[in-house]
Amino acid sequence: MKSTIKIALAGNPNSGKSTLFNVLTGLNQKVANFPGITVDKKTGSCFFVRKSDDQKISAHIIDLPGTYSLYPKTPDERVPFQVLCDPADEDYPDAVIIVADASNLKRSLFLCSQVIDLKIPAVLALNMMDLVRSMGIEIDLAKLSDKLGIPIIPTNALKKEGIDVLKQTVASLEPKPVKDFIQIHDYSPCVLSGIRETVKVKSNYAAFQVANNLEFLSTFHINPGSKEKIRSLIREFAFDAYDMQTKETLERYRVINEIVKECVVHKALATKKKITEKVDNLLTHRVFGYIFFLLILFTIFQTVFSWSSIPMAWIQDSFNLLSEYILQSMPPGIFTDLLVNGILAGLSGIIVFVPQIASLFFFIALLEDTGYMARVSFLMDRLMRPFGLNGKSVLPLVSGVACAIPAIMSTRTISNTKERFITIFVTPLISCSARIPVFTLLISLIIPNRFVFGFLNLQGIVLMSLYMIGFVAALGSALVLKLLLKNKEKSHFILEMPVYRMPRWSNIVLTILEKVKIFLFDAGKVIVAISIILWFLSSYGPSGTMQKLETKYAHLEQTQQNLSDKRAEKLENSFAGRIGKSIEPAIRPLGFDWKIGIALITSFAAREVFVGTMSTIYSVGDETKGQSTVHDKMLAEINQDTGKAQYSAATGFSLMIFYVFALQCMSTVAVVYRETKSWKTPIAQILYMSGMAYLFSLLVFQLLK
Ligand code: GDP
Repeated sequence: MKSTIKIALAGNPNSGKSTLFNVLTGLNQKVANFPGITVDKKTGSCFFVRKSDDQKISAHIIDLPGTYSLYPKTPDERVPFQVLCDPADEDYPDAVIIVADASNLKRSLFLCSQVIDLKIPAVLALNMMDLVRSMGIEIDLAKLSDKLGIPIIPTNALKKEGIDVLKQTVASLEPKPVKDFIQIHDYSPCVLSGIRETVKVKSNYAAFQVANNLEFLSTFHINPGSKEKIRSLIREFAFDAYDMQTKETLERYRVINEIVKECVVHKALATKKKITEKVDNLLTHRVFGYIFFLLILFTIFQTVFSWSSIPMAWIQDSFNLLSEYILQSMPPGIFTDLLVNGILAGLSGIIVFVPQIASLFFFIALLEDTGYMARVSFLMDRLMRPFGLNGKSVLPLVSGVACAIPAIMSTRTISNTKERFITIFVTPLISCSARIPVFTLLISLIIPNRFVFGFLNLQGIVLMSLYMIGFVAALGSALVLKLLLKNKEKSHFILEMPVYRMPRWSNIVLTILEKVKIFLFDAGKVIVAISIILWFLSSYGPSGTMQKLETKYAHLEQTQQNLSDKRAEKLENSFAGRIGKSIEPAIRPLGFDWKIGIALITSFAAREVFVGTMSTIYSVGDETKGQSTVHDKMLAEINQDTGKAQYSAATGFSLMIFYVFALQCMSTVAVVYRETKSWKTPIAQILYMSGMAYLFSLLVFQLLK
């Protein structure tokens, strides 16, 4: 061994690598950038003492960015790949310390197995051994070391335990790992041998990585002649990088599973695991699994409806009382009017939906926390693939039921660009909680609150159908996108199933509080602001119009008929009425009048604004202020043309379908822009979803009217 050696620290994020680096190098470290990219390059130095001859060896240590595998996707992951696979790289190490979180051995061993196959002298620092002990896990270190073919040193970087032994071991490392973890050469013997003859790599696996990543990496030090030669080898022997990578991944996990089974005993988990296995046989069954999932969904939607109706009524009643109190105790005038019909109307429109959002999130958090959600992802992977999505798309899609914004942000876990794009594109079609207010209002207008077969709530069935339509639309759109978009990148879905456990109630409460807070404050701000603007738009009109109306009605008798005529005329002549009217020709074929027109425009900011808008529109000029709900007022609304109720089944369904499809959410647009870094996707999304909304509403209204 040389007197100064280069050592690389490699490991998963959060394996304790930085802690170990600090322990090894102390103050002798510096941070720079890797050339050309904004990834921190942490290097340092220290001395190792070789046990056999007490020779002091100086070491240059580089702390590689944390990564789960040597498949470079992000700039962070490219660095370890480049440094470890390319012997021409200036940081190519003489030895690697693989840092693994021993409490999560299975995941850590993936990267470890790749490094072993690169045949760079390596030692495994099995970190977090304190956690392993406290979790009741036993690891047979001698056996594990024998299986992997490299030395293993148990460490606790935090308490500096095992560090001296680690240093000694590194100083006297074998020339290279003795075992092949997987037989990579058999995958494509001619290509790999050809590459080894063309470029200087140290192992078959390094050659395999060259073949895999030849076109992606400009940083690899290979001259153009050799590159061309490798290209022709790849063509000649039809080396398909994606198929090879899949094969490699599956094989590595197969071997890792075997090794972990033999070397790790999880005493506390053993019984839990047995129970989990039994339950999983049923819950992830290819038939019962889906039936169970549907049953769960069904129960959730039924319960969300019946649970929340009681507190919703309380909230509505309190707001009515408050409005009444303000009207009685304050002098009539613009300010009182603004307070009651602008601000309070808007506020009640938001707060009344808290019970529903809270109960929905109660279930989502419960499913997450018990470990069932991971099974849903697993079950759904089979179903998602044909649609250009993968099992990881299910979490964003399921969270989309709550809100598209966090859902779209959570697509970051999907590494395949095409699948991620498709997931982002179709997630807003999944019915989110902001649609609940709109749906519930409309459902209560046109669907009787009745039970069929004695136990199925009719309103619940309609709500579930709306969700299903959104889901089918999302899958259908994904399929179309899959066929339209070209991308050869393939992906693999590996998800570790957690054991089932009792939910942590504090977690669930926190989740609910957090979601309700986001809804109240983030969406709430927009809703209240728009409610006030709307109050203005619907209380005032172009100069003089309102005064003329006042004078006209001042001479007439104050009969009920006259009062409601005045109300209707004032609203029609207000700013809002004029805007709504101007778009009426375009939306009349959908069964919408100008009042709905106004709500469609304002709810472009956020869907739930529809309800606030309706509340405001229907309280303006209403002499029975605070007495009846927006629901009652909409129910009493008469269509001037037909003389029948405005909210007929045809209009109600048409509106609901409109809200199933339309992208009425400014925040979603903003998040999609942020996640895709371009306006193309959000604009395409708006056009696509609004187009579908218009077409399907048109179809529904024309068929039902
Ligand atoms: P990195 O992302 O791999 O660089 O991980 P860090 O060095 O930042 O460590 C992640 C967390 O694990 C930190 O909170 C450390 O304090 C902690 N940690 C590191 N080593 C150990 C260990 O051996 N035992 C325990 N219990 N915690 C550790």
